[in-house]
Amino acid sequence: MHTTTVTDHLIQLTRLRFVNAFLVREDDGFTLVDTTISGSADDFIRAAQDAGGAIKRIALTHGHGDHVGSLDALKERLGGEVQVLMPELDARIHAGEKVTEGKLPGGWPTLKTTPDVRLQPGDRVGSLEVVAAPGHTPGHSAFVDTRDRTLIAGDTFTTIGSVQVSNHFYWRFPLAAMATWDKGKDLESARALRALDPELLVVGHGGPVRQPGAAIDRAIASAAG
Ligand SMILES: [Zn+2]
Repeated sequence: MHTTTVTDHLIQLTRLRFVNAFLVREDDGFTLVDTTISGSADDFIRAAQDAGGAIKRIALTHGHGDHVGSLDALKERLGGEVQVLMPELDARIHAGEKVTEGKLPGGWPTLKTTPDVRLQPGDRVGSLEVVAAPGHTPGHSAFVDTRDRTLIAGDTFTTIGSVQVSNHFYWRFPLAAMATWDKGKDLESARALRALDPELLVVGHGGPVRQPGAAIDRAIASAAG
């Protein structure tokens, strides 16, 4: 696993060079945003300890396997110490409800862990505010750190090579578009996230982008074209 200190509040944890989770620093410890693939739990717990705290909350951007992969193992190790938060619609999908017509793309592994909280837009998770960003999945959500306008955008954007919207095929990382449920909603969400005017963009796949406004504008222009 690769650890990158991005800001005072944010550490990026990367598996296999292209799958990210994030430790967000709070007064009581850390919120872990996403869990990448299976086999990451011990590394995440150690990374939090090394950074001076424990994982208190696990907040998920969406329910795909490359984001919830280590959730059960983390829950097993951290038990009642940790609160698990998942966007409402993706939590309902994991509970076996049919929330959309047709087949959902992307991997939806069976989870033992039931979220303690089903997140709604506007909810707060420590310093993070939940922002609706449906499209990649029905419940897909982003998080904005209200302290410094860092946008944790999940898979609405990827930044491998350049900033791209996950609504269309991009040769450097085709998996994102293949797993996207509603390409129109995904592009709408990209515009909504741009309107938040983030200082820093971090995503599920690719590196951090500082002052990302112009790069997001280019991504939206090419995604809409
Ligand atoms: Zn992903």
